[in-house]
Amino acid sequence: MGPASYDVVISGAGPAGCAAAITLADYAPDLRICLIDAGHGGARKAGDTVPPSIAPILRHLGLWPTFLSSGHKPAHRSVSAWGALHIATNEYFFLGSDTAWQLDRRVFEQSLTEAAAARLSRFETGVIAGCRQTGGCLTVTLKSGAVLTARYAIDATGRAAALSRMMTASPVIFDRLVGCLAFAPDSQTERNELLIESFEAGWWYTACLPRGRRVVACMTDAEQIRPLGLRSAEGFRARLANTRYVEAVTNGDGPLDGPHVLAANSRLTEAQPGLPLLPAGDAAFATDPICGQGIVNALRGGVYAAYAVADWLLREDPKGLDRYRAWVHASFASYQMVLRDFYAVEARWPDHPFWRRRQTARLSPAPERIRQ
Ligand SMILES: Cc1cc2nc3c(=O)[nH]c(=O)nc-3n(C[C@H](O)[C@H](O)[C@H](O)COP(=O)(O)OP(=O)(O)OC[C@H]3O[C@@H](n4cnc5c(N)ncnc54)[C@H](O)[C@@H]3O)c2cc1C
Repeated sequence: MGPASYDVVISGAGPAGCAAAITLADYAPDLRICLIDAGHGGARKAGDTVPPSIAPILRHLGLWPTFLSSGHKPAHRSVSAWGALHIATNEYFFLGSDTAWQLDRRVFEQSLTEAAAARLSRFETGVIAGCRQTGGCLTVTLKSGAVLTARYAIDATGRAAALSRMMTASPVIFDRLVGCLAFAPDSQTERNELLIESFEAGWWYTACLPRGRRVVACMTDAEQIRPLGLRSAEGFRARLANTRYVEAVTNGDGPLDGPHVLAANSRLTEAQPGLPLLPAGDAAFATDPICGQGIVNALRGGVYAAYAVADWLLREDPKGLDRYRAWVHASFASYQMVLRDFYAVEARWPDHPFWRRRQTARLSPAPERIRQ
Protein backbone atom coordinates (compact mmCIF):
# COMPACT_ATOMS: atom_id res chain seq x y z
CA MET A 1 0.00 0.00 0.00
CA GLY A 2 1.39 3.47 -0.93
CA PRO A 3 1.37 6.53 1.33
CA ALA A 4 -2.03 8.06 2.21
CA SER A 5 -2.63 10.99 -0.12
CA TYR A 6 -4.45 14.24 0.63
CA ASP A 7 -5.17 17.48 -1.12
CA VAL A 8 -4.03 19.50 1.90
CA VAL A 9 -1.96 18.57 4.93
CA ILE A 10 -2.15 21.07 7.79
CA SER A 11 0.64 20.68 10.31
CA GLY A 12 -0.17 22.01 13.78
CA ALA A 13 -3.60 22.13 15.45
CA GLY A 14 -3.21 25.41 17.32
CA PRO A 15 -5.45 28.40 16.54
CA ALA A 16 -3.99 28.86 13.02
CA GLY A 17 -4.15 25.19 11.99
CA CYS A 18 -7.67 24.66 13.34
CA ALA A 19 -8.98 27.87 11.74
CA ALA A 20 -7.46 26.75 8.42
CA ALA A 21 -8.94 23.26 8.76
CA ILE A 22 -12.46 24.49 9.62
CA THR A 23 -12.39 27.04 6.78
CA LEU A 24 -11.18 24.50 4.21
CA ALA A 25 -13.76 21.94 5.28
CA ASP A 26 -16.59 24.50 4.96
CA TYR A 27 -15.38 26.26 1.78
CA ALA A 28 -14.05 23.27 -0.18
CA PRO A 29 -15.75 20.16 1.26
CA ASP A 30 -14.58 17.93 -1.61
CA LEU A 31 -10.90 18.39 -0.77
CA ARG A 32 -9.28 15.65 1.29
CA ILE A 33 -7.67 17.30 4.29
CA CYS A 34 -5.43 15.90 7.02
CA LEU A 35 -4.63 17.86 10.20
CA ILE A 36 -1.60 16.65 12.17
CA ASP A 37 -0.51 17.75 15.63
CA ALA A 38 2.22 16.70 18.01
CA GLY A 39 -0.47 16.58 20.71
CA HIS A 40 0.58 18.97 23.44
CA GLY A 41 -3.01 20.18 23.70
CA GLY A 42 -2.29 23.75 24.77
CA ALA A 43 -0.58 22.51 27.94
CA ARG A 44 2.78 24.16 27.18
CA LYS A 45 1.49 27.33 25.61
CA ALA A 46 1.35 30.89 26.83
CA GLY A 47 -1.35 33.24 25.65
CA ASP A 48 -4.23 33.89 27.90
CA THR A 49 -5.66 37.29 27.07
CA VAL A 50 -7.47 37.85 23.81
CA PRO A 51 -8.78 41.22 22.64
CA PRO A 52 -12.40 42.00 21.74
CA SER A 53 -11.54 41.50 18.04
CA ILE A 54 -11.62 37.71 18.56
CA ALA A 55 -15.45 37.73 18.52
CA PRO A 56 -16.08 38.29 14.77
CA ILE A 57 -13.50 35.64 13.80
CA LEU A 58 -15.01 33.03 16.08
CA ARG A 59 -18.49 33.95 14.79
CA HIS A 60 -17.22 33.48 11.24
CA LEU A 61 -15.89 30.03 12.19
CA GLY A 62 -19.18 29.09 13.90
CA LEU A 63 -17.42 28.78 17.26
CA TRP A 64 -18.79 31.75 19.17
CA PRO A 65 -21.59 29.92 21.08
CA THR A 66 -19.10 27.25 22.22
CA PHE A 67 -16.62 29.96 23.25
CA LEU A 68 -19.26 31.75 25.35
CA SER A 69 -20.14 28.57 27.22
CA SER A 70 -16.56 27.40 27.84
CA GLY A 71 -15.79 29.24 31.07
CA HIS A 72 -13.43 31.91 29.64
CA LYS A 73 -13.48 35.03 31.81
CA PRO A 74 -14.60 38.38 30.40
CA ALA A 75 -12.17 41.25 31.14
CA HIS A 76 -13.31 44.84 30.80
CA ARG A 77 -10.00 46.66 31.12
CA SER A 78 -6.23 46.33 31.28
CA VAL A 79 -3.96 48.34 33.55
CA SER A 80 -0.31 49.22 33.16
CA ALA A 81 2.58 51.05 34.80
CA TRP A 82 4.48 51.77 31.59
CA GLY A 83 6.51 54.92 31.07
CA ALA A 84 5.63 56.19 34.56
CA LEU A 85 5.41 55.00 38.16
CA HIS A 86 1.65 55.34 38.35
CA ILE A 87 -0.96 52.93 36.97
CA ALA A 88 -2.97 53.87 33.88
CA THR A 89 -6.21 52.14 32.93
CA ASN A 90 -7.53 51.09 29.53
CA GLU A 91 -11.29 50.57 29.71
CA TYR A 92 -12.38 48.63 26.62
CA PHE A 93 -15.80 50.27 26.92
CA PHE A 94 -14.31 53.74 26.38
CA LEU A 95 -12.28 52.50 23.43
CA GLY A 96 -15.57 51.73 21.69
CA SER A 97 -14.93 48.01 21.84
CA ASP A 98 -16.49 45.16 23.66
CA THR A 99 -15.04 42.67 26.07
CA ALA A 100 -11.59 41.08 26.13
CA TRP A 101 -11.22 37.56 27.50
CA GLN A 102 -8.98 35.63 29.87
CA LEU A 103 -8.73 32.24 28.20
CA ASP A 104 -8.64 28.80 29.62
CA ARG A 105 -6.08 27.95 26.95
CA ARG A 106 -6.42 24.19 27.23
CA VAL A 107 -10.21 24.31 26.89
CA PHE A 108 -9.92 26.81 24.01
CA GLU A 109 -7.51 24.55 22.08
CA GLN A 110 -9.66 21.51 22.77
CA SER A 111 -12.81 23.14 21.40
CA LEU A 112 -10.92 24.28 18.28
CA THR A 113 -9.48 20.79 17.71
CA GLU A 114 -12.83 19.08 18.22
CA ALA A 115 -14.55 21.42 15.76
CA ALA A 116 -11.80 20.84 13.18
CA ALA A 117 -11.58 17.05 13.68
CA ALA A 118 -15.35 16.67 13.26
CA ARG A 119 -15.18 18.15 9.75
CA LEU A 120 -12.00 16.57 8.34
CA SER A 121 -10.99 13.51 6.36
CA ARG A 122 -8.36 12.76 9.00
CA PHE A 123 -6.96 14.09 12.26
CA GLU A 124 -3.67 12.53 13.24
CA THR A 125 -1.59 12.85 16.41
CA GLY A 126 2.08 12.73 15.45
CA VAL A 127 5.25 14.76 15.11
CA ILE A 128 6.23 15.76 11.59
CA ALA A 129 9.85 14.76 11.15
CA GLY A 130 10.49 15.32 7.44
CA CYS A 131 9.11 16.96 4.33
CA ARG A 132 10.35 16.94 0.73
CA GLN A 133 9.02 17.93 -2.64
CA THR A 134 8.46 15.09 -5.11
CA GLY A 135 7.10 16.16 -8.48
CA GLY A 136 4.37 18.72 -7.81
CA CYS A 137 3.54 17.23 -4.38
CA LEU A 138 4.95 17.19 -0.88
CA THR A 139 5.86 13.97 0.91
CA VAL A 140 5.51 14.33 4.67
CA THR A 141 7.06 11.83 7.10
CA LEU A 142 6.00 11.47 10.72
CA LYS A 143 8.27 10.43 13.58
CA SER A 144 6.26 7.17 13.78
CA GLY A 145 7.45 6.35 10.25
CA ALA A 146 4.03 7.00 8.64
CA VAL A 147 4.28 8.74 5.26
CA LEU A 148 1.68 10.81 3.47
CA THR A 149 1.56 12.98 0.39
CA ALA A 150 -0.19 16.29 -0.19
CA ARG A 151 -0.84 18.58 -3.14
CA TYR A 152 -0.42 21.52 -0.73
CA ALA A 153 0.59 21.99 2.92
CA ILE A 154 -0.13 24.70 5.48
CA ASP A 155 2.61 25.08 8.08
CA ALA A 156 0.79 26.01 11.31
CA THR A 157 3.42 24.65 13.71
CA GLY A 158 3.77 27.96 15.58
CA ARG A 159 7.19 29.46 16.26
CA ALA A 160 8.79 26.12 15.36
CA ALA A 161 7.81 26.77 11.70
CA ALA A 162 8.75 23.09 11.35
CA LEU A 163 7.63 22.45 7.77
CA SER A 164 9.02 25.72 6.45
CA ARG A 165 12.41 25.00 8.02
CA MET A 166 12.41 21.51 6.53
CA MET A 167 11.89 23.17 3.15
CA THR A 168 14.82 25.55 3.87
CA ALA A 169 12.85 28.71 4.73
CA SER A 170 14.31 29.80 8.10
CA PRO A 171 12.50 32.59 9.93
CA VAL A 172 14.16 35.98 10.24
CA ILE A 173 14.43 36.73 13.96
CA PHE A 174 14.13 40.40 14.98
CA ASP A 175 14.93 40.33 18.72
CA ARG A 176 15.68 38.02 21.66
CA LEU A 177 12.57 38.43 23.82
CA VAL A 178 11.70 35.51 26.09
CA GLY A 179 8.96 35.01 28.67
CA CYS A 180 9.67 33.40 32.06
CA LEU A 181 6.23 32.21 33.12
CA ALA A 182 4.95 30.85 36.40
CA PHE A 183 1.47 29.76 37.41
CA ALA A 184 0.05 30.03 40.91
CA PRO A 185 -3.27 29.61 42.69
CA ASP A 186 -5.10 32.93 42.53
CA SER A 187 -6.00 34.69 45.72
CA GLN A 188 -7.40 37.81 44.03
CA THR A 189 -10.04 36.52 41.62
CA GLU A 190 -11.82 39.89 41.68
CA ARG A 191 -8.72 41.45 39.97
CA ASN A 192 -9.36 39.93 36.56
CA GLU A 193 -7.71 42.60 34.43
CA LEU A 194 -4.38 42.17 32.69
CA LEU A 195 -1.68 44.07 34.64
CA ILE A 196 1.58 45.14 32.97
CA GLU A 197 4.55 46.75 34.74
CA SER A 198 7.85 47.69 33.15
CA PHE A 199 11.23 47.50 34.91
CA GLU A 200 14.82 48.28 33.90
CA ALA A 201 15.38 45.00 32.00
CA GLY A 202 11.93 44.33 30.53
CA TRP A 203 8.39 44.04 31.79
CA TRP A 204 6.11 41.87 33.90
CA TYR A 205 2.55 40.86 33.35
CA THR A 206 -0.02 39.02 35.41
CA ALA A 207 -3.57 37.96 34.75
CA CYS A 208 -6.03 35.83 36.58
CA LEU A 209 -7.05 32.71 34.66
CA PRO A 210 -10.19 30.60 34.81
CA ARG A 211 -10.29 27.81 37.40
CA GLY A 212 -8.65 29.86 40.15
CA ARG A 213 -5.19 30.18 38.60
CA ARG A 214 -2.96 33.16 37.90
CA VAL A 215 -0.15 33.58 35.39
CA VAL A 216 2.84 35.75 36.35
CA ALA A 217 5.46 36.40 33.68
CA CYS A 218 8.72 38.29 33.38
CA MET A 219 9.56 39.31 29.80
CA THR A 220 13.19 40.12 29.07
CA ASP A 221 15.98 39.38 26.59
CA ALA A 222 17.39 35.83 26.57
CA GLU A 223 20.83 36.90 27.82
CA GLN A 224 19.23 38.54 30.89
CA ILE A 225 17.72 35.31 32.26
CA ARG A 226 20.89 34.26 34.06
CA PRO A 227 21.93 37.65 35.55
CA LEU A 228 18.35 38.22 36.70
CA GLY A 229 18.26 34.72 38.25
CA LEU A 230 15.01 33.90 36.47
CA ARG A 231 15.67 30.19 35.90
CA SER A 232 14.91 29.15 39.48
CA ALA A 233 11.73 29.60 41.52
CA GLU A 234 13.75 31.39 44.24
CA GLY A 235 15.30 33.83 41.77
CA PHE A 236 11.92 34.42 40.14
CA ARG A 237 10.32 35.15 43.53
CA ALA A 238 13.16 37.51 44.45
CA ARG A 239 12.68 39.52 41.23
CA LEU A 240 8.92 39.48 41.66
CA ALA A 241 9.35 40.94 45.15
CA ASN A 242 11.01 44.00 43.53
CA THR A 243 7.92 44.85 41.50
CA ARG A 244 5.64 47.58 42.69
CA TYR A 245 2.25 46.31 41.51
CA VAL A 246 2.56 42.75 40.16
CA GLU A 247 3.74 41.26 43.43
CA ALA A 248 0.82 42.88 45.26
CA VAL A 249 -1.77 40.89 43.29
CA THR A 250 0.13 37.59 43.42
CA ASN A 251 0.59 35.30 46.35
CA GLY A 252 4.37 35.73 46.55
CA ASP A 253 4.92 32.92 49.08
CA GLY A 254 2.43 30.40 47.67
CA PRO A 255 3.20 27.38 45.47
CA LEU A 256 4.59 28.22 42.05
CA ASP A 257 4.53 26.11 38.87
CA GLY A 258 7.53 27.41 36.96
CA PRO A 259 9.31 29.44 35.83
CA HIS A 260 9.04 28.04 32.29
CA VAL A 261 11.05 29.88 29.63
CA LEU A 262 9.37 30.45 26.25
CA ALA A 263 10.59 32.29 23.15
CA ALA A 264 8.50 35.40 22.57
CA ASN A 265 10.46 37.29 19.91
CA SER A 266 9.26 38.82 16.66
CA ARG A 267 9.92 36.64 13.62
CA LEU A 268 8.88 36.45 10.00
CA THR A 269 9.03 33.45 7.66
CA GLU A 270 8.90 34.14 3.94
CA ALA A 271 6.53 31.88 1.98
CA GLN A 272 8.60 30.47 -0.90
CA PRO A 273 6.95 31.19 -4.25
CA GLY A 274 6.59 28.03 -6.35
CA LEU A 275 6.57 25.71 -3.33
CA PRO A 276 3.15 24.20 -2.43
CA LEU A 277 3.53 25.33 1.18
CA LEU A 278 2.13 28.34 3.09
CA PRO A 279 3.09 29.24 6.66
CA ALA A 280 0.19 30.53 8.82
CA GLY A 281 -0.12 31.88 12.36
CA ASP A 282 3.12 32.21 14.34
CA ALA A 283 4.83 30.09 11.66
CA ALA A 284 4.27 33.01 9.25
CA PHE A 285 4.88 35.87 11.68
CA ALA A 286 5.16 35.81 15.44
CA THR A 287 4.67 38.95 17.51
CA ASP A 288 5.76 40.38 20.86
CA PRO A 289 3.08 39.48 23.45
CA ILE A 290 2.90 43.15 24.54
CA CYS A 291 0.60 43.61 21.52
CA GLY A 292 -1.73 40.81 22.68
CA GLN A 293 -2.57 39.97 19.05
CA GLY A 294 -0.97 36.52 18.61
CA ILE A 295 -4.08 34.35 18.81
CA VAL A 296 -6.26 36.70 16.76
CA ASN A 297 -3.53 36.95 14.10
CA ALA A 298 -3.19 33.16 14.07
CA LEU A 299 -6.93 32.58 13.63
CA ARG A 300 -7.14 35.25 10.92
CA GLY A 301 -4.04 33.92 9.12
CA GLY A 302 -5.40 30.37 9.20
CA VAL A 303 -8.68 31.50 7.60
CA TYR A 304 -6.95 33.55 4.88
CA ALA A 305 -4.40 30.82 4.10
CA ALA A 306 -7.21 28.27 3.73
CA TYR A 307 -9.12 30.39 1.18
CA ALA A 308 -5.92 31.04 -0.77
CA VAL A 309 -4.95 27.34 -0.92
CA ALA A 310 -8.50 26.23 -1.84
CA ASP A 311 -8.72 28.75 -4.72
CA TRP A 312 -5.42 27.48 -6.05
CA LEU A 313 -6.32 23.78 -5.80
CA LEU A 314 -9.89 24.15 -7.11
CA ARG A 315 -9.36 26.72 -9.88
CA GLU A 316 -5.62 27.22 -10.24
CA ASP A 317 -6.33 30.82 -9.25
CA PRO A 318 -3.09 32.26 -7.77
CA LYS A 319 -4.57 35.62 -6.71
CA GLY A 320 -5.43 34.39 -3.22
CA LEU A 321 -1.86 33.17 -2.65
CA ASP A 322 -0.46 36.54 -3.76
CA ARG A 323 -2.96 38.40 -1.59
CA TYR A 324 -2.09 36.20 1.38
CA ARG A 325 1.65 36.87 1.05
CA ALA A 326 0.95 40.62 0.73
CA TRP A 327 -1.30 40.49 3.82
CA VAL A 328 1.47 38.82 5.88
CA HIS A 329 3.97 41.52 4.86
CA ALA A 330 1.56 44.41 5.46
CA SER A 331 0.47 43.00 8.84
CA PHE A 332 4.05 42.52 9.98
CA ALA A 333 5.06 46.01 8.84
CA SER A 334 2.19 47.69 10.68
CA TYR A 335 2.83 45.53 13.76
CA GLN A 336 6.47 46.72 13.81
CA MET A 337 5.38 50.37 13.75
CA VAL A 338 2.93 49.86 16.62
CA LEU A 339 5.58 47.96 18.58
CA ARG A 340 8.23 50.66 18.18
CA ASP A 341 5.77 53.38 19.23
CA PHE A 342 4.77 51.28 22.22
CA TYR A 343 8.33 50.77 23.47
CA ALA A 344 9.17 54.43 22.82
CA VAL A 345 6.71 55.43 25.55
CA GLU A 346 8.93 53.85 28.22
CA ALA A 347 11.85 56.28 28.49
CA ARG A 348 13.01 55.67 32.10
CA TRP A 349 15.93 53.33 31.33
CA PRO A 350 17.42 54.61 28.05
CA ASP A 351 20.84 53.07 28.84
CA HIS A 352 19.69 49.53 29.56
CA PRO A 353 20.24 47.30 26.49
CA PHE A 354 16.66 45.97 26.67
CA TRP A 355 15.12 49.42 26.13
CA ARG A 356 17.96 50.88 24.06
CA ARG A 357 17.61 48.10 21.46
CA ARG A 358 13.92 48.68 21.08
CA GLN A 359 14.18 52.46 21.05
CA THR A 360 17.08 52.80 18.64
CA ALA A 361 15.35 50.32 16.29
CA ARG A 362 12.80 53.11 15.91
CA LEU A 363 15.43 55.39 14.37
CA SER A 364 16.94 52.93 11.92
CA PRO A 365 15.31 52.24 8.55
CA ALA A 366 15.41 48.48 9.12
CA PRO A 367 14.98 46.84 12.52
CA GLU A 368 17.76 44.75 13.99
CA ARG A 369 17.66 41.44 12.12
CA ILE A 370 19.12 38.29 13.60
CA ARG A 371 19.31 35.28 11.31
CA GLN A 372 19.01 31.91 13.11
C1 LIG B 1 4.98 34.51 26.80
C2 LIG B 1 3.90 34.60 25.76
C3 LIG B 1 2.71 35.22 26.07
C4 LIG B 1 1.69 35.31 25.10
N1 LIG B 1 0.54 35.95 25.43
C5 LIG B 1 -0.43 36.08 24.49
C6 LIG B 1 -1.65 36.73 24.82
O1 LIG B 1 -1.88 37.15 25.96
N2 LIG B 1 -2.60 36.86 23.84
C7 LIG B 1 -2.39 36.38 22.57
O2 LIG B 1 -3.27 36.52 21.71
N3 LIG B 1 -1.24 35.74 22.24
C8 LIG B 1 -0.27 35.58 23.16
N4 LIG B 1 0.87 34.90 22.85
C9 LIG B 1 1.05 34.39 21.48
C10 LIG B 1 0.17 33.17 21.17
O3 LIG B 1 0.37 32.14 22.12
C11 LIG B 1 0.51 32.66 19.75
O4 LIG B 1 0.52 33.75 18.86
C12 LIG B 1 -0.47 31.61 19.25
O5 LIG B 1 -0.45 30.45 20.06
C13 LIG B 1 -0.10 31.21 17.81
O6 LIG B 1 -0.97 30.20 17.35
P1 LIG B 1 -0.47 29.18 16.23
O7 LIG B 1 -1.64 28.32 15.91
O8 LIG B 1 0.20 29.91 15.13
O9 LIG B 1 0.69 28.31 16.92
P2 LIG B 1 0.67 27.44 18.24
O10 LIG B 1 -0.44 27.84 19.14
O11 LIG B 1 2.06 27.49 18.76
O12 LIG B 1 0.34 25.96 17.71
C14 LIG B 1 1.27 25.23 16.96
C15 LIG B 1 0.91 23.74 17.00
O13 LIG B 1 1.82 23.03 16.17
C16 LIG B 1 2.16 21.81 16.79
N5 LIG B 1 3.48 21.39 16.29
C17 LIG B 1 4.66 22.06 16.41
N6 LIG B 1 5.65 21.38 15.78
C18 LIG B 1 5.08 20.27 15.25
C19 LIG B 1 5.56 19.16 14.50
N7 LIG B 1 6.86 19.05 14.12
N8 LIG B 1 4.67 18.20 14.11
C20 LIG B 1 3.35 18.28 14.47
N9 LIG B 1 2.84 19.30 15.18
C21 LIG B 1 3.69 20.29 15.58
C22 LIG B 1 2.14 22.09 18.29
O14 LIG B 1 1.83 20.91 19.04
C23 LIG B 1 1.03 23.15 18.40
O15 LIG B 1 -0.22 22.58 18.79
C24 LIG B 1 1.89 34.76 23.80
C25 LIG B 1 3.10 34.11 23.50
C26 LIG B 1 4.09 34.02 24.47
C27 LIG B 1 5.36 33.29 24.11
